[in-house]
Amino acid sequence: MKKINQLLIGTNNKGKLREIRALIPKNLKIFSTSNFNLKSPKENGNNFKSNSIIKAKYYSKKTKLVCLADDSGLEIDMLNKAPGIFSARWGGKKSDFNLAIKKVFRELKKKDVNWENKKIKANFVCALSICYLDKVIACVEGKIKGIISSKPKGKKGFGYDPIFIPSGRKLTFGQISPKLKNKIDHRFEAFKKIKKFL
Ligand code: IMP
Repeated sequence: MKKINQLLIGTNNKGKLREIRALIPKNLKIFSTSNFNLKSPKENGNNFKSNSIIKAKYYSKKTKLVCLADDSGLEIDMLNKAPGIFSARWGGKKSDFNLAIKKVFRELKKKDVNWENKKIKANFVCALSICYLDKVIACVEGKIKGIISSKPKGKKGFGYDPIFIPSGRKLTFGQISPKLKNKIDHRFEAFKKIKKFL
């Protein structure tokens, strides 16, 4: 396969953009959606992989560049894997993650009033796709297991980071350094599988 020398990162989410940028080989010229002032496409796939393909194809066709796009989210066992692909949408129109986290706590309470004293298992999932126009060059998925913190902790991350404690650790993703998060999270796990295509 011909090596690419420029790549569009297909996301309008600043937290994701920061993480993905840090993972991409330095010899590639990187573009972001803000260079083109592009809106996000409708995510009407029914899983992370199909939504990441929808985004990568859409942004690639708009820019004529090879595009790497991410679709990711939080799956909580007790909530039958919700919010899942609806993770961003739980934050409402303005993507307010205080609201999304409150909704998680509310939904957990509906399932079990004593949830705060239980181990609430969850996964962060990330699908990454590389597309050129309508062609899918690669599509992979990465996961990290953890538990839900009964209170939001830490201001370092984005999205649901303040309530996710990765397995084997005591601190939430909101409390650990972005550098460490970037070496252990779901996006990194997916990136390990896709980096040979870059
Ligand atoms: P989407 O992939 O654009 O549909 O949005 C995924 C949503 O999942 C984001 O808006 C975040 O709220 C959440 N999410 C995905 N990855 C992470 C992460 O690494 N930390 C915290 N929240 C995340």
